[in-house]
Amino acid sequence: MQENYKIGGIIYKNKLCIILGSEIETSEINTQGKTGSAHNLCYFPYLKDIKAFSKEMQNHIKNITLSSQRANISAYELIDIVEKYNGVLIPAHAFTPHKSFYGNCTDRLEKIFKEKYSKVPAIELGLSSDTFLADQISELEEKTFLTNSDAHSLPKIAREYNKIKVADISYQELMKAIRREDGREIVCNYGLDPKLGKYHRTYCEVCNKRIEGPAPVTKCDTCDSRNITMGVFDRIEIIKDKSKTKSPDFRPEYKYQIPLTFIPGLGGKTIDKLLDTFETEMNILHKLSFDDIEAVCGEKIARNIIDAKEGRMQISAGGGGVYGKVCKTDTP
Ligand SMILES: [Zn+2]
Ligand SMILES: [Zn+2]
Repeated sequence: MQENYKIGGIIYKNKLCIILGSEIETSEINTQGKTGSAHNLCYFPYLKDIKAFSKEMQNHIKNITLSSQRANISAYELIDIVEKYNGVLIPAHAFTPHKSFYGNCTDRLEKIFKEKYSKVPAIELGLSSDTFLADQISELEEKTFLTNSDAHSLPKIAREYNKIKVADISYQELMKAIRREDGREIVCNYGLDPKLGKYHRTYCEVCNKRIEGPAPVTKCDTCDSRNITMGVFDRIEIIKDKSKTKSPDFRPEYKYQIPLTFIPGLGGKTIDKLLDTFETEMNILHKLSFDDIEAVCGEKIARNIIDAKEGRMQISAGGGGVYGKVCKTDTP
């Protein structure tokens, strides 16, 4: 493993580029004068940069060695520290209810970043939203959308991912793609159907149930309580300023995928067997035919994988921290 001294990133076996980064929680004052928290992805080109950044952040974070500690500064201040060490700041899972800008702090990123808003090149959509939902907010028209997996464990890596056009693997090339410079770009966003995300619809914390019904749902339809966890779908309905989704011309295709762990009938052993044979989940979900899969794990499972891929499964939406579910439809 070695550092790419000219253009950033850590290169492994000439095939893999690791981008150095940190997710920082900032403190924002919302319109009611209350404190909200938002997560920020901070990416850096070189080890020396992220080390110096980390050192400076010790002034703003107690217990910096624990994960998810909140910094006592706002993103408006954080972005300057990130840039001082040659990094880039991108709002993380921008719509989730507890720890994000739109979910917890503001209806407009411009109110947070003010004259620095143009320095933010992209937002991370998060699992409960997609391009079509986010493109109902006009201040996002210039921003690139990232479908990162936000994986907190190894098997969840690539449950969402970006297909990126670059000339080589490096930090510099990735940043060019995010900024859509010199022909570099994100060519496809692969993501969950947002209904599968943990925070898609509003959830009543008193009745412990997800609330259906036309968005935006802002209180429980059973107990009338406003002790709810707002769904991403409901939140976007409140803050959107376009009546119809109109994506800018550069916006790449958003391809839905249902990860193997969501597909009915697929246990750990079968998934291991599939991965041993076909190497990656991307291969299994997007490249293989029914016959390829059937040869390894039988007709029933192959049918479920292909049905999920081709949109023939029903999805019951997630909410309140519980993922959505994939169910088989009755049609043969
Ligand atoms: Zn986060
Ligand atoms: Zn209720």
